[in-house]
Amino acid sequence: MGAEGRVMEPTEGRTESQETAPGTRERVFSGMQPSGEAHLGNYLGALQHWERMQDDYECFFCIVDEHAITGEYTPDELPQRTFDLAVSFLAVGLDPERSTIFVQSDVPEHTELSWLFNAVTPVGDLERMTQYKDKSAHLESVPAGLLNYPVLQAADILIYRAHVVPVGEDQLQHLELTREIARRWNARYGPLFPEPRGVVGQAGRIVGLDGAQKMSKSLGNTVGVLAEPEEIWDRVRTAKTDPQRVRKSDPGRPEMCNVYSLHEHLTDPDALYDIRDQCRGATRGCVECKRILADSIAERFAPFRERAEGYRSRPQDVVDVLESGARRARSLARDTLDEVRERMGLGWRGAARSASTRTGSVSP
Ligand code: SF4
Repeated sequence: MGAEGRVMEPTEGRTESQETAPGTRERVFSGMQPSGEAHLGNYLGALQHWERMQDDYECFFCIVDEHAITGEYTPDELPQRTFDLAVSFLAVGLDPERSTIFVQSDVPEHTELSWLFNAVTPVGDLERMTQYKDKSAHLESVPAGLLNYPVLQAADILIYRAHVVPVGEDQLQHLELTREIARRWNARYGPLFPEPRGVVGQAGRIVGLDGAQKMSKSLGNTVGVLAEPEEIWDRVRTAKTDPQRVRKSDPGRPEMCNVYSLHEHLTDPDALYDIRDQCRGATRGCVECKRILADSIAERFAPFRERAEGYRSRPQDVVDVLESGARRARSLARDTLDEVRERMGLGWRGAARSASTRTGSVSP
């Protein structure tokens, strides 16, 4: 399967706008909201996959701060969260030499394109989005930004004419809308945008340490990618296990235990048979089993902590990475936007040039 995980939306019948020139790599776009230091769920569900994709694709990795402001947030905390996520990106191995790493609001072309896409996006399509329905259900007043969130997502992706989008399963519906927006726009104004295909990482849905809900910082059921070994153990020791294994002498069912599914992602594959065997035979207790998991996590995260320490001691390096990423992103985004504006009839200076040609006067 290579760097790609499961391809959920294979691109069929590629059009001219979807071809990549021979010798060039396909382009990838993915974004993450600035929730501060990344956590284990971010790492298993996205970041480890992004890190691998850098070898095979031209990658754009974005901190989507303009998406973050459509929900509850604290303006005073947002800058630190953005910076901390950037440190996490670099710590886990996203490489500014190979990838374009930037902050969404530094490239205002995203929001301009999203406005232009609003012109081809039916409100009914937006109202049908499951995330919109879930998030708006308990709000007295629904911000328009929540409804238009997937249009901005489409602009994030299509402004770079990305071919591939690594996504979580919960984002597949938004990606299908992106493809629909690309189709509608291309049909009205001529082929320009590829219909990007979604790739869901092999890790799939990562369940939190509570053994019930998706791993998330706001639910407190995860552990930070830059956590120290003691903190990792403090978090992992609270993890829920097979509910039928009450005493050490009760035989366990690894297939029913979220600790075991985390072992599958993080522990040496050669050790997994022993973990299953000792669980089923009730020869190892859950505390010891969790200790092995905590050690596996600490070992995986050790180089991340080291790199993060370096970046935190040189914060200007992080600023430089993000600013240089934004410059590169803007130059590509500008090219797309200029073409979009022209085709949508917003390049009004052309009319003045035509008039000057007709009258023989000097063009403006
Ligand atoms: S021994 Fe490990 S796999 Fe088995 S129930 Fe306990 S924590 Fe889960």
